This record gives sequence, structure tokens and C-alpha cells, in this order.
Amino acid sequence: MHPYDHPTFRMACEQFELVADFLEIPQGDRARLCMPKRALSVSIPIHRDSGATEVFYGYRVQHHLTLGPTKGGIRYHPEVTLGEVAALAMWMSWKCALAGLPYGGAKGGVACDPATLSATELERLTRRFTQEIIPFIGPQIDIPAPDLGTHEQIMAWMMDTYSTHHGHSVPGVVTGKPVSLGGSVGRREATGRGVAFLANRAMDSLGLRADQATAIIQGFGNVGSVTAQCLARHGTRIVGVADARGAIYRPTGIPLQELEAHVARHGSVAGFTEAEAIDPAALLIQPCDVLVPAALERQITEHNALQLRCRVLAEGANGPTTPAADRLLAQRGDVLVVPDILCNAGGVVVSYFEWVQDLQSFFWNETEVVDRLYRILEGAFAQTYKFSRDRQVSPRTAALALGIERVWKAKKLRGLFP
Ligand code: GLU
Repeated sequence: MHPYDHPTFRMACEQFELVADFLEIPQGDRARLCMPKRALSVSIPIHRDSGATEVFYGYRVQHHLTLGPTKGGIRYHPEVTLGEVAALAMWMSWKCALAGLPYGGAKGGVACDPATLSATELERLTRRFTQEIIPFIGPQIDIPAPDLGTHEQIMAWMMDTYSTHHGHSVPGVVTGKPVSLGGSVGRREATGRGVAFLANRAMDSLGLRADQATAIIQGFGNVGSVTAQCLARHGTRIVGVADARGAIYRPTGIPLQELEAHVARHGSVAGFTEAEAIDPAALLIQPCDVLVPAALERQITEHNALQLRCRVLAEGANGPTTPAADRLLAQRGDVLVVPDILCNAGGVVVSYFEWVQDLQSFFWNETEVVDRLYRILEGAFAQTYKFSRDRQVSPRTAALALGIERVWKAKKLRGLFP
């Protein structure tokens, strides 16, 4: 028995086992590679604005420490559990290794609904959570970042709480900070920019023209909205957008500026009058060239995989496609998947740049950041699709195999301890 059991953790283990069989990893090496190195579970009591005391539960999971400190976001969402966070930490390990970053994977989260917390409650929650995990994090230990439900201000509170404890500013303890506190230019846009860059590379390889293509985006947070803007900049029509509260569809293209303004006012794409309302599940199966799931795990399943009408599935989210759906997509053979650990790696790549800049107290301009980002993504894209062609495996198996093999080899070189 282990404490991580959860459908998403089982899914990550199933993906791992498939790749471990393909790489012929001996049984004796598998549990060490797959199971998290360590995890911390904390209670977070805060005073609500009403004066009542409420206890929230938070987690931080470090998947492996073989290649350097661990890296990964902090998620605020009502359904956060230790097992979900552990799965996300495992994917961070393979993602960092695929991109060649000197990190293991980590993830953290607090089970809460940030939409129901005031700004002062959110600050108290964040500061108390950070306080509880101080011995577990640090620029050479584990470096948190934003994820679903968290943002720059939350990273600023984390950095401040950690720094106050240490008696001096420690900007390198978190990434995704405001630029004025040692954040990197281009970090906020990095994940979406990377998703759009790789979706364009995938379209190129199929001979599709970006300026004649259409896209549907599930999720309109930091990743989905920037992906939409970047795709639109290359002439791609965004015909559908969904978020947690609703979905909209307009085959002639959704005006994004107006949509951004609507979301800023109402907090959701729902109620946007310049497009039709559509059932969010039905939106995923409308015709488009590029489908971008950029929200939660397990959205493309055995129930909708055969109905997708896209040519490219660009996974902005972590774990949006289940292994059962992967098998159906492979049978179909007409959807090019850009797997999550490649497709959304832009965020952690620029987080790595931010950490490097903080350690050196020497900051880069946006051109340097974006140029280096694209070079790393281009390299990972080329390696993944070459491996996929040469070894006759899916792009997901290729990306995971490249990441897992690097961690496996490093563990063999170092020995049993890390
Ligand atoms: N939360 C993001 C991810 O899932 C970014 C992690 C980071 O920047 O450390 O990749």
C-alpha cells in the first residue's frame, strides 16, 4: 500500500509501465523511478474574514532528487489530493528531463476554491501554507511556481514569507514572480507561447497553413488565453473556447480582445454574446484543425476520443488524455498528438531561466528569453518526433521514453541514494 492512490496517479503509473516495458527497465528499478521520493502533507488553519477559523489541507510532493532540486507548480483547486499532486510531480520529472533541465519534478497544492476566498484570505492561506513547507523548499531544494488557480501575487507572498523567515530576500525560492521582485520577463506568457509554437510546428509537419487553420481551446486561464492569442497572431481562427463555467462557439472566429474584456468583467467566457453558447463537452468534438485542452486532467477519454474532429491535439494541460483514449487515437492514426510533457514545457523552461537569473542577479531581456525558449522547445520537438518515427511509437511514448530514460540513467550512475 502507498498513500498516493488516485485515478490520476494510476494513470501516470500506467503510462510509466508502458514506457518501462518499451525501454525494458528491470522490475527492480521501476518502483524507485515511479514512486515519489518524498511528500509533505500539512494542515493550514486560517481566520476567514467572518472571524471563523477554517482548516485547509495542503501538499508538496518531490518526485526525485537525482538531477538537482525539484521543480513544479502549486495548484489551488477544490479537488486537489495527495495522489493527484503526486501524479503531477511525476509528469514534471519526465517534462524537465525531456527539456534537459537540471531538475527533478515536484508539485504542490491546497484543496480550496480560490474563487470563494477574498484577497486577504488568499494571502493568509498562502503565507500559512508557505510557513508550513519552509523546511521542505528552497532554491537548492525545491522551487515552486504557479499552476492552476495560482498566479504572480501568490508567488510574491510565498517569496516574501520565505524571505522574512531567512532575514533576507531569496528570490530564487519560487518562479513565476512579478518581474519587479526578480521574476523573468516572458514567464507569464511562456506556457501558452510554447503551446502555440509547438502547435504550429505540428501543423507545419502535416502541411497545414496556420493562417487557414481553426482552433478550439478548453480552458481560458493563463495557458489557454495566451495560446489563443499566439495562435491568432499567426492567422488561426479561434472558433471555440470553454472554461469551468461554460463554453462558446463561433465558426467564423471569436473576437479575442472582446472576449478578454468580457472575462475580465465576468470571470468566465459564459455569457459572451458575440458567440453561441454550447455544451462544453460538445465543444471538444466540433471540427477544428487544432484542439488545445488547457484545463484539467482526463478530458480526452475512451468516450470522446473517436469523436474528436481535430488534426492536431496540442496538450496545454497536464494529463488531459487517458491511456485508453491514447489507444483509440493510435488506432485512428489521423490525429497528431503533441504530448503534454512536451507541449506545455514552455512554462517550466522559462521558470528555469528565472531561477538562473535570480541565482546570478543578472537579468535577460524578452528577446533573449523567447529566443532561448524556442531553441529548447524546437530541440525537444525534433528529438521526440525523430524517436517516434525511428522507433515506430506514439509521440507520447517517445517523449516519455526520452524523459524517463534520462532519469533512469542518472539514477544508475549515482546509485541507490538519491
Ligand atoms: N505548473 C507548470 C507546469 O505544470 C509550471 C511549473 C514550473 O514552472 O515550475 O509545468
